[in-house]
Amino acid sequence: MKVEIGSATDIGRVRERNEDAILVDPPLFAVADGMGGHRGGEVASQVALETMEELEGSDRDTLAEHVRRANRAVWDRSVDDEQLSGMGTTLTAVRLDGDSVVLAHVGDSRAYLLRNGALRQLTSDHTLVERMLRSGEITEAEADVHPHKNVLTRALGTDEQVDVDEESVALEDGDRLLLCSDGLTGMVTEEQIQAILEASPDPQNAADRLVRAANRAGGVDNVSVVVLRAVGGDGGAAAPRRRPRPSGRTVARWALRIAIPLLIVAVALFGARWYLDRQWYIGPSDGKIAIFQGIPLTIVGYDVGHAVQTFDDLAASEVDRYLADQYPTLEDGIPVDSRDEALDVIEQIRTDLEAAKTTARKEPKNGGGGG
Ligand code: MG
Repeated sequence: MKVEIGSATDIGRVRERNEDAILVDPPLFAVADGMGGHRGGEVASQVALETMEELEGSDRDTLAEHVRRANRAVWDRSVDDEQLSGMGTTLTAVRLDGDSVVLAHVGDSRAYLLRNGALRQLTSDHTLVERMLRSGEITEAEADVHPHKNVLTRALGTDEQVDVDEESVALEDGDRLLLCSDGLTGMVTEEQIQAILEASPDPQNAADRLVRAANRAGGVDNVSVVVLRAVGGDGGAAAPRRRPRPSGRTVARWALRIAIPLLIVAVALFGARWYLDRQWYIGPSDGKIAIFQGIPLTIVGYDVGHAVQTFDDLAASEVDRYLADQYPTLEDGIPVDSRDEALDVIEQIRTDLEAAKTTARKEPKNGGGGG
């Protein structure tokens, strides 16, 4: 089973910090809602999710075991740092496993399943109010407005050990799975949540709309959502086979894989071009002296330097004959810093050559053999 993914986390309209955190690291998804003074809430939710992410990458233990180890990580951190003492977090996590999801949960964030027009809460809130409701002490209507609605009976990181609720749900094509913090469910009714999910098949669109709905309703808490939409099965009998279509993320990933090497090559070529355009030398070209741009090098049959100005009055053979001592490297190319400097050197060669020829005409030949 594949899933399409949407997610959003928002500070809301009242709070000064976002103590919620979300994890979208397929096949692992999670929402955490931190609590505690100082920066405790933020730290707790982040430590919990970072630990979950690390564990997912390093071993294949059960999801609930990972949650217990995340609990320990938050607890250890709160013991180490006095300012973080007492911090904790909720954690509702799911891991995709073939055609089903495994769910692990502590606290009052929630997981919902929308299937065939029915929205079902998969998790139980670990709150005092929920406990009172179940024992019949209060009614549902009373629970909704109870002043201690947010008091948790279970949280991650507030004790060395924690009980973790576990559940496994077989996915069906079209299922929508929602993970959310109480910043959503405290502001928006389940009917509204369902209506938004049904009106927004695209999970990211749904996630954004859910957050907007919570903020429109007051946004008194941080609000976080992860929305998953199950599409097709891989070879299972669950759903008619769909034509595999790369998701936006897949396309983006491949675009990057192609674009980055291309960009590197382009930069290298551009850099090489830029460098070569600033290199000059003087050398022979078709028997004449010429100014070259580039470097005197041939790579796999391609001349890296090219003549930009040839001086027909200056024969390379004459320079070789009369000025070999002064310009011994002419054949290999005489490097210069600019075209102007090249023109100066050419002028010097011309002057030197005329002088050398004049001297040669005046002086008798060595050995004086005839004339
Ligand atoms: Mg909250």
